[in-house]
Amino acid sequence: MSAMERNPNAAGDEERRTVRKDVLFCPDCGRIASSDRWEWNDGDDVETLDCPNCGTTLTTRPHALA
Ligand SMILES: [Zn+2]
Repeated sequence: MSAMERNPNAAGDEERRTVRKDVLFCPDCGRIASSDRWEWNDGDDVETLDCPNCGTTLTTRPHALA
């Protein structure tokens, strides 16, 4: 497969035609945004990634083991 690691200088890339891999889609309200445009909220054991429009939880992840 193609390399996942792109040139870090390609940060201004988001308006390309191709949907980037970290773009997320809210099935409830249809919001589409890159993964850093959503709200991470702390839960007990996990963080939830919530839609700022409708509050739907898109995904969860374990707390980072810092
Ligand atoms: Zn939504």
